Formats: sequence, C-alpha cells, structure tokens
Amino acid sequence: MNLVIVESPTKARKLKGYLDTGYKVEASVGHIRDLPKTSIGVDIEQDFKPTYEVSLDKIRVIAQLEKAARLAETIILATDPDREGEAIAWHIKHVLTQDTKKTKKFVRAKFYEITKSAVLEAIEHPTTINMDLVDAQQARRVVDRLVGYEVSPVLWKKIRRGLSAGRVQSVALRMIVEREREIEAFEPDEYWEVDVALSAKQLKAAKVFLEENKFNLPDQSFIARAIQLNQKKYEPTKKDDVTDVIGLFPHASYTIQEVEKKERKRSSLPPFTTSTLQQAAANRLGYSSKQTMRLAQQLYEEGLITYHRTDSVGLSSQAIEMVRKYIGKTYGDGYLPASPRVFANTSKNAQEAHEAIRVTHINLDSQAVPGEGPKLAAQHAKLYDLIWRRFVASQMPAAVYDQTSLTIKAQPARKTQIESVTLKATGSVLKFDGWMKLFTASDDILLPDLEKGVTVHYLDHNAAQKFTQPPPRYNDASLVKELEKKGIGRPSTYASIISVIEDRGYVNRDAKRFVATPVGMTVSDFLLKHFPDFMEYEFTAEMEEDLDRIARGEKEWPKVVDAFYRPFHKKVGLAEKADRAQIPVEKTGEKCPKCGDTEKGEVVIRSGRFGKFKSCSRYPECDFTENIVETVAGAKCPLCGEGEVIIRNSRWGKPFYGCGRYPECNWASWRQPKPGETITKTVWAEMQKKREERKKKREAAEAKLYPERAAAKLAAAEKAAAKKAVVKEKAAAKTTTVKKKLTKKKSPKNLSSKPHSTASQRDLAKR
Ligand SMILES: [Zn+2]
Ligand SMILES: [Zn+2]
Repeated sequence: MNLVIVESPTKARKLKGYLDTGYKVEASVGHIRDLPKTSIGVDIEQDFKPTYEVSLDKIRVIAQLEKAARLAETIILATDPDREGEAIAWHIKHVLTQDTKKTKKFVRAKFYEITKSAVLEAIEHPTTINMDLVDAQQARRVVDRLVGYEVSPVLWKKIRRGLSAGRVQSVALRMIVEREREIEAFEPDEYWEVDVALSAKQLKAAKVFLEENKFNLPDQSFIARAIQLNQKKYEPTKKDDVTDVIGLFPHASYTIQEVEKKERKRSSLPPFTTSTLQQAAANRLGYSSKQTMRLAQQLYEEGLITYHRTDSVGLSSQAIEMVRKYIGKTYGDGYLPASPRVFANTSKNAQEAHEAIRVTHINLDSQAVPGEGPKLAAQHAKLYDLIWRRFVASQMPAAVYDQTSLTIKAQPARKTQIESVTLKATGSVLKFDGWMKLFTASDDILLPDLEKGVTVHYLDHNAAQKFTQPPPRYNDASLVKELEKKGIGRPSTYASIISVIEDRGYVNRDAKRFVATPVGMTVSDFLLKHFPDFMEYEFTAEMEEDLDRIARGEKEWPKVVDAFYRPFHKKVGLAEKADRAQIPVEKTGEKCPKCGDTEKGEVVIRSGRFGKFKSCSRYPECDFTENIVETVAGAKCPLCGEGEVIIRNSRWGKPFYGCGRYPECNWASWRQPKPGETITKTVWAEMQKKREERKKKREAAEAKLYPERAAAKLAAAEKAAAKKAVVKEKAAAKTTTVKKKLTKKKSPKNLSSKPHSTASQRDLAKR
C-alpha cells in the first residue's frame, strides 16, 4: 500500500475518488509543526537555527499519520505546490521519519490542479522535496519571527501594551497612513467643464443637460467640449473664465473644422494571477482579499480551478487547446484567432511559476458550481464565473471600434475679444465585439455622419463647476495593486498582510476602504522614525527578492537572515532609548461633565488597549472616563434574548461580540450573530463544555510533550491567583480610602487600559 498525504480533508476526499485501492489518502490539516508559541525558537548564535514544535492540536492527526505510514511502502507527499506546501511536506517527512525506524521511501508529488489526469501524472512521476523552497519558507518565518519578537516589546514600552509589528505588514500600514496624510493635506482646485449640445439638423434650442451625466439628446445631435479659446488651450479655473464664453454660444455659428476617423482595438486581459484575481473580485464583487482566497482555495480543492497562488499569466498547451476548441464550437470560427495568444511572463521564479488561474473544466458553467462540492455556494459561483470569463476571453480576438473625433469651431455673431472657441466631440461605435461577447459591452457614443466644412446648430450649453479630488483611500484592489507594483508581498501573502493590519486595529474599513486609526498612525510614525531603513519600500522589496533567490538556490538562507538581522538588532537597541509616543486623542467638542463648567475640560476619545473610551482633556487633573459601548443595531443576545449585542475588542485588537448583560449572561462569539439568531441554554452549555474539554486536552498534550513549560504555566497561574486574593483582601479592608489614592496615583499608562480592564472582562477578551 502507498500513502498519499495532503494538507486538507477536502483535497483528500477528492484524491480518494481518483486513486485505486492501492492508495490510502490522509490529511495533515495544515501545518503540523511550527516555531513555538511561547518562546522565540530561533538560535541567533547558531546560524538562526529554528526549533520547531509539534502543534498541540495535531497530536491526534500525527498519531493517525504515523499509523498509516507504518503500513505504507511509499509515502507520497502531495501538499500544495508552493513554498508553504513544500515546507509542510518537509515537516511531515521529518516527524514521520522519527517514528518509522526503518527507512521509508518518501517522494513528493506536485500538481497544479486537482483533476484526475494531473494527479495521476504527478503520482506516476514523483520528485523529491525541494530544499531551496523549504529554506525560502524557513527564512521568511525566521525573519518575521525576529522582527515580531524584538519590535513588539518596544511598542509595548513606548506606545501601549499589546501592540505588535510585522516586517511586511508595517510597510503596508505605512502606505495607508501616507495616503491618509495626503488626503488631510489635500487642497481642492476649482475647474470648469464647458459643454455645448449641437445638432446636424436645424432644431429649436432645447434643454438638453438634465443633471450630471444625464442628457436629453434628440436624434442627430451630440455634445462637444470647449478645449481652446482663440486657438489657445482653454482651462477655466473660475467662473469669470466661463461667463463671456458661454454668453456667446447661443448666437455663435458652428463649423466642422476637422473629422478624424480611426479604428481602435481593445484586447482582452491576460488570465488571472493571484493579484489580479483579488483586484477584480474586490472591484466587481466587493470581496475582501481574504474572502477571495478562501473561496478560491475551496474551488481549487474541489478540482474546479488551477492553483490560486501564482504570479504567472501563462497557460499550458492543453489548456489552450481546450479553450480554443470551446471558442470555435460555441462562438464560431470568427471568434477564434488564427494562433493562440501568448502572454509574457514577468515572474522570475520559473521553477515555481506554473500557470495562471483558470478553470479546469471549460464546459462547467458557474450555475453548476454549488453542486460540485458540499461547501460551494453562490459566492463561489460568482468567483468561478469571473475566472471562467477572464480565461476564455484571454484567448478571443480584440474588440474593434470605429472611433470618430469632430473638431468644431464656434465663432461669435458679433466681434468681441473672443474670436473663436474650439470644441471637440468623440464618438465610438463597436464594430466587432470579439472577447467582449462575454461581457456587457459599454454603450456606443454615436455621432452624426458629418463632413468637414458643414455647419451644425446650437441646442443648449452647460458650464459645470468642479473640484479636483484627493487621491481615494485604498481598498483591497488598489492596495494589492500597489503592493505588487512596489514588489512587496507575494501571491501567498497579500491577503494575510491586509487581514493582519485590520485584526490589530491599525486600520478600519469605511465603505470597504482602509482608514488608518490613531493607533495605526502612531505605530507607523514610531516605526518610521526609529526603523527608517526597514520601513523603506525598496528595502522590503529587496528582502522579498532575497527570499526568491533562496527559493531559486542562489542564496543561503542563514546569510540572508544575518544580513537583515545585525543592523536591525542595533536599531532595536536605539529605539529602546526613544521617547514615549502618544496616541492622539479625538476631539468631540463636548464639555466634560465633571469639570467642564469650572475648569473648561473637554471630552476626548482615547484609544485604550481594549478599545476606545471617553475621557477628559484635562487628564490627569480630571479623572472623568466613560465607556463607549458599540452595539450591533437591532440585534439581541442569541442566548438570553434580552441583552444588546456589544462589540468588544480582544487583546489583539480583533473585535468580538458579547452580551450587554455580562456578567449575568456570558454569551460571547467571534462571529456577529445573524438577525434573529438564537441559541438554547443547553446548546450553549454544550459548547462551553466542549471548549473546556478541548482546553483540557491541549493541556494534557502539553504536559506530555513539554512538561517543563506546562509546569511553569501552572506555577504562574497559581502565583497570579495568590496575588489576586491578596489584592481582594486589601481592597475589602480599605474600600473607603482606595478610590482617592487611585486617583492620585494613576499614570497615563494605566489610564489607557482602565475602562475595559476589569478582571472579568479581560477573561472574556481572552476567549
Ligand atoms: Zn474633566
Ligand atoms: Zn445575553
């Protein structure tokens, strides 16, 4: 018997369907080994040697893999075809070799689509684990671990406890913060758009301009824009520039000065890469990058699309043959170019770059997607449809337009300072739809057929005051585009870069666009001041390049990490001596209810470790604070049905939902309850019990695997409990004096965590 190991149960189920009884398929359910959670796990003095630990929740999975491995002749490692998958395969091999004393044969099978032919082909022609790819993954893991471990404590000391920094994430945060500052500093400029509605036929002047972009255009008429005044560029910036010009329009004579006709071609775009898929899904479907990757992962595991982490736009010859056959059969030979379109690949990682993201079964339409796997739903179908269309369109001919430009000369009836105004109109008519057959074509703009020298007639005019706009805030699409352009991040990391800075509370979303929070701005400014080199876009891009070089076998990973770490570590030492940074407060304009009448204190919003709260601008002289309770509008607690659903911040900034009646009702969840959702006391008790059991199991596994760590944890917990008991005792004895003393002793540090930091709520936040 042969054993095939993959990382996901869905993939395992799919593979079982393709392989005969000589193969057993097991899933590792993700990584089974990683750097430890409780210590740095990197030996800086010994070439950054990492110490990996078996994940506690994988004990059962590993036992199952070991059992299957003992019975197997060959173990086929069939994890995903990229650095992460290569590393998982390597870790699995390592763990299983420790158990199976006699040497087993391990091979690596790589396939980029989970279809029967691709899987069988890969299993019949296995390779070995590519250590260059594994090393590139290790280097990324180690360097990110070092940054996190060394910078986070500095942020705790200098800004606020609980903050953390990431190598690439901090640079992405910097982009969002810079954009926010650009918007703040932006001063809009006024400009005017001057348009005239003209007709080929002599018609009575009529109201044509209804409202912005809405017209009531009669047949044979069109709209032209003023572009020149007295044969010089006309760019009006104030009303005065416009008044005289529009005054002459109703009585001017209009002559066609120039007619320009040309054919314009519009080609389809190459098939999707990870970056362009995330951009299109965000723009067209409103999906976040994370959501797109989750849906794509499931489509891939069900065998419906090729591997979705790729920066290649290439297509295999089989794929091209498949799609060309389909195009010829479905749309006719007129839609089939003489030879296949070839897209140039810009990716330098040839050994990793496989194909673009495309569908595997051209005849399967999006309607059928939800039936193809138990987890697939309407959202998957929409993403699949996007991928299908882009793939098919990429091998179809260009759309052809007839484009016409008219230049019109307007001359005033009487002689004034204005001798002439030049107007321009552009029309375009789709002559052949080509690839646009698969998309709703944009509307034609029709111009009447006119010749040079003829006269056209005035209908109406319009002068619109406009202002230049600040650059828009980034959304998923524009941020991923910019990250890719700057060379920061890779197909496997774009989505996580975004979700990490969101989860940490460094950015919020406003109508799907990222807004840097006061905490995010403070962290970014602090890092930029004290780690300027490491926050440089070019530097981060160069580091990514180095990781690619490791993957190509051109560089050794400990050397790359060393070159990064030595100067970085020095900066950490310097930053430890820096001044504290203040998170700016938000003004509310309200006066402080405690001291506003006498001392003119104002209510300000501060960001604490557990979220925002109201405080007095005169702190610490005035100790007014009030919690800001954010609730889910219209929702009631699913458990008790009485309390409001309150949004709270957990320790790491990621929000969770809890009952407003806490501690009487202890309902809490990471997920926002659906409208009308209820949960019975029995089910809740059952969930609590299971959670407790899982915790106990984890602890038992830990005690067995890492006895010292478990003992240290136990000792720490006992110490904390004893300390709490003493505090309680003291508090009970001095209830009357405590309050006054606290007011005097408070420092900004403990104020920032005060409103939410009662022991019970901390407990909730830990969940
Ligand atoms: Zn006050
Ligand atoms: Zn409740």
